[in-house]
Amino acid sequence: MELNLTGKVALVTGSTSGIGLGIAERLAEEGCTTIMNAHLPAEEVTGVLSELAEKYDGEIEYRQADMSNPDAIGKLLEGIISHHQQLDILVNNAGVQVVSPIQDFKNEDWENVQDINLNSAFHTTKAAFPGMLKRGWGRIIHIASAHGLVASAFKAAYVTAKHGMIGLGKVTALEGAEHGITCNMICPGYVLTPLVDQQIDDQAKVHKISRDRVIAEIMLTPQPTKKFVQIEEIAALAAFLCSDHAASITGAAIPIDGGWTAR
Ligand code: NAD
Repeated sequence: MELNLTGKVALVTGSTSGIGLGIAERLAEEGCTTIMNAHLPAEEVTGVLSELAEKYDGEIEYRQADMSNPDAIGKLLEGIISHHQQLDILVNNAGVQVVSPIQDFKNEDWENVQDINLNSAFHTTKAAFPGMLKRGWGRIIHIASAHGLVASAFKAAYVTAKHGMIGLGKVTALEGAEHGITCNMICPGYVLTPLVDQQIDDQAKVHKISRDRVIAEIMLTPQPTKKFVQIEEIAALAAFLCSDHAASITGAAIPIDGGWTAR
């Protein structure tokens, strides 16, 4: 199926590793001008950037910005729009996790999780929306989570932020509906990214069990497939949602979670 994304300008926030990197790579493969982002200095991402630039013909660039900082987000979006004259696709992917019982949850951790996961999606959407309205075309995708649909203990900030992203995305979908703009939320279950890989090691130490047992008995217990969701599966869904084949899919929170939220 042709997705016809050549020439579209796409920003993927938090795209130097894991899911964001997979989505950036897939959009580059589809011919988008792809803007990658993280809070890391440019010299730390030259490897990953040149690897993608060698593989794909389209323009790929990196723009550093702290997605917890509204001013930095404003400058990021202004810079992109003034350089490329357009931003067609916005993927809000940057995210962090903090695990703690509510009574011990540090205020600064709560705020940081809201800022990076949820508030950044509001600020990027607000800045990208006028140009999309003007051109009558836009695609906004929030990488939410199965935790945007159901809760788990000890993840108060993350579950709240991911539920919030789904609310924000539904409103955005309604406001964009008559203007060729869609907004959808992808809700993955567990994906084996560097972040989750580190959690496996941590859990193995705490529980004094092997990595295999952590994966089988702790991480994949909620996922009926008993398999991690693959980054490429999420990237393929994101690319499809960006295409005109998905023009009538908007305001949807789409689980890609091996059946987790079907229970
Ligand atoms: P990851 O740690 O591999 O990637 C996170 C990315 O965000 C990195 O590029 C990191 O540099 C960037 N980032 C972190 N803080 C930032 C900041 N302040 N400013 C800009 N960039 C920042 O994690 P991942 O697992 O690929 O997660 C990506 C998204 O997918 C997150 O929103 C996460 O909540 C969501 N998600 C992940 C899983 C999973 O199991 N891995 C499941 C559901 C949803």
